[in-house]
Amino acid sequence: MFSLDRGGTRLATIAHHTLWLDCTCGRSAPLAVRDLLGRAELVTVADVVARARCAACWARRVKAVTISFEGGSAEAMRGALATRAGEG
Ligand SMILES: [Zn+2]
Repeated sequence: MFSLDRGGTRLATIAHHTLWLDCTCGRSAPLAVRDLLGRAELVTVADVVARARCAACWARRVKAVTISFEGGSAEAMRGALATRAGEG
């Protein structure tokens, strides 16, 4: 199991932050919170963790989540996510 101390944090309150999800396989992936806000099924950080699937091992086994304020680097991350989606 993973520890998720801030799982109840509402996405709307951290709209300008990035979630870093760490898989048990060792991969870490960033998710820009503002890209998640339009999805009705995603309300809290825990909702994202429950649905996130690792792009490396294709499992839903998030062991940790980090909430970080990324500010201006969000655009670069969106590009990284698009590339990752294309691989799948
Ligand atoms: Zn993985």
